[in-house]
Amino acid sequence: MAGDTATLTRSGMSAGENPGQRRNPRYDILFEPVKIGPVTAPNRFYQVPHASGMTNALPRVRASFRETKAEGGWGVVCTGACSIHPTSDDSPLPFARLWDKADIQSHALMTEAVHRHGSLAGIELWHGGASTFNRTSRLAPLSPSGTPWMATHVGFMSNLRPKVMDRADILDLLRWQAEGARKARSAGFDIVYVYAGMGYLPYEFLLPEYNHRTDEYGGSVANRVRLVQQMIEVTKEAVGDSCGVALRISLEELRAKASPHAQSEAHEVIERLKDLPDLFDVKMDSSPTDCSASRFSEEGSHEKVIDFVKKVTTKPVVGVGRFTSPDTMVSQLKRGVLDLIGGARPSIADPFLPKKIDEGREDEIRECIGCNICISSWHDSVPVRCTQNPTIGEEWRRGWHPERMQPKKSDDKILVVGGGPAGLECALSLARRGYAVTLADKGRAFGGRLNFETRLPGLSAWRRVLDYRLGRLQTMNKVDLFLESDLSADDILEFGCQHVVTATGSRWTNEIYTSMEVPVGRIDGPNVFTPSDLAEGRLPAGPTVVFDFDNYYMGGVVAEHLAELGNQVSYVTPAGHASAWTIMTNELPRVHQALSRRGITVTTLNRITAFDGEAATLAQLFTGAETKFACRNLVIVGLRRPEDALYHALMERDLAGAGIKSVTRVGDALAPGAIVHAVHAGHRYARELDEPVSEEPYKLDAPVVLS
Ligand code: ADP
Ligand code: SF4
Repeated sequence: MAGDTATLTRSGMSAGENPGQRRNPRYDILFEPVKIGPVTAPNRFYQVPHASGMTNALPRVRASFRETKAEGGWGVVCTGACSIHPTSDDSPLPFARLWDKADIQSHALMTEAVHRHGSLAGIELWHGGASTFNRTSRLAPLSPSGTPWMATHVGFMSNLRPKVMDRADILDLLRWQAEGARKARSAGFDIVYVYAGMGYLPYEFLLPEYNHRTDEYGGSVANRVRLVQQMIEVTKEAVGDSCGVALRISLEELRAKASPHAQSEAHEVIERLKDLPDLFDVKMDSSPTDCSASRFSEEGSHEKVIDFVKKVTTKPVVGVGRFTSPDTMVSQLKRGVLDLIGGARPSIADPFLPKKIDEGREDEIRECIGCNICISSWHDSVPVRCTQNPTIGEEWRRGWHPERMQPKKSDDKILVVGGGPAGLECALSLARRGYAVTLADKGRAFGGRLNFETRLPGLSAWRRVLDYRLGRLQTMNKVDLFLESDLSADDILEFGCQHVVTATGSRWTNEIYTSMEVPVGRIDGPNVFTPSDLAEGRLPAGPTVVFDFDNYYMGGVVAEHLAELGNQVSYVTPAGHASAWTIMTNELPRVHQALSRRGITVTTLNRITAFDGEAATLAQLFTGAETKFACRNLVIVGLRRPEDALYHALMERDLAGAGIKSVTRVGDALAPGAIVHAVHAGHRYARELDEPVSEEPYKLDAPVVLS
């Protein structure tokens, strides 16, 4: 085989097998217990409530998903928001509920699973108010003053206005919260939440824009905070000494408002509530800032908003900030910002993050890259998916564990061609099973598409997809890594392996679409580019139009990149927004802000149908009306086609004669998509090699039904 062997350390150990390694004493503070009212968290790792896309229809999937985090060392593991009443019905989104006995049993599966590992189980009782439109229950949505939440935002839009709550509605809400708390206690939860954040009902009472009431629940902060106060009181009364009561509250908007009594309205609200809950769980106000993508925010981005809370209350405080570095966590504790390190995305990317720190294996943490694909799963209404952790959501249905692989079933050798996300994950997972693996790539570095993409504006954290996998591969036995090895079918037949995986990726094309989104020809020319050209160093110079109908991040970041290089850039898309799919990852508003900051004009609802080197021809999506757009270069960010020539060449050959039992395409070489899909496909190949082929690719869960 041609090419150099990449630096390869052979420590004789595989991932997770580092006997004798001990916790760094610098991190001891992370493992101290914390009292939360009547219960005690065994350490400071707190998996805050977060959406999982696992409704009560998938109780076993949900229980295993949360259990894995408890097993991985999270001292508190919460379930996602749980509706307390049918007036809080978020359908068609995959919300959980706690309405009846079957729901209690459904959640009990999760609390039992979490308790098996000595962790506390928490539940976020939730009323969505004017942000849920009760599409299934058909009950009137509730609100303080009849104002809907984000009325023009896809997913929140409705042709129904919320009703203004009267006194009886408020009493009902307090009763539902108390009943919810009692049900939560019966289900075995240790921490019960009042949720006053992110546009939901109690939060709407806190904000004057949504609360115009003239009764004792409106007007001054003292009045606006009354409902939250009463909700905490009824919750405490309901659970007695058996559970801790947490308040989850958004503070971004409130902190921006002046108060006559305190530094800001946020300060005043916390001052008024400071002795009531057993725990403050503090956060930002809307998804794009609360769960901000790494493209737009650094680790610890909430600090500037929530840093004051601990100075006002003596109760423990938990907060998030995509914390993956134990040093940052320790700094948050020592500087008095937080008492508990909250994690949602870091706990998805690596459920074993606390254990790895505890065992002195920080270098094995699979760090969240902040891509927010996990959040898109909620919007897609499916169980959570993760770019870094292909096993998430698959714990029960496929039996995948993030840290354990089943041993190999043969001594077969596997050649993986292509060291992008799919090939890297495939090779690593095969090696973890104990197979002898060779990973070869024609490039001068492993990483595939990551080598280009992580150099684009805001995407540097995505390098963790490569760093984690290559780092692990370099410590493993029976792994050979080859670079600058452009393999042909002949090379592979001579190589002497039993299985070949072609993870050879895909290439962007200059094809264009009709208004019905059917590929129709291509635009050629010396000044026509695709992201693949840019990756190979062929760059436009001068006024450039980026035509994007891929709709995810690539069009936006390429436009930013070219503007950064000094070009005048315009962005055109047939979609309604720039990078339209990023609505799913909470990035859309920030994409528009980023394009605007760089002076990039955005034209929506237009296709480009022709380009002559002087101007692009635009056709309005619905009317077909044509306009000319002067530009010197055109970058088409549209379709990708698999790079599968090697696969097809192999399939023509006498594979059996060369001792090859199988040739399989994985990742973009099979179906081009986001990195999350390539990683999952690479992992699945490794899990399924030499295993019996099942009729059902995964187990089907079913709701708990009471007899
Ligand atoms: P994926 O996302 O599916 O992993 P990528 O495009 O990121 O796909 O990676 C594909 C990798 O495959 C690239 O690094 C490319 O250099 C490599 N590759 C493609 N064809 C060959 C080949 N014939 N021999 C070796 N490496 C190849
Ligand atoms: Fe982090 Fe992306 Fe995984 Fe979400 S999908 S946990 S943002 S790596």
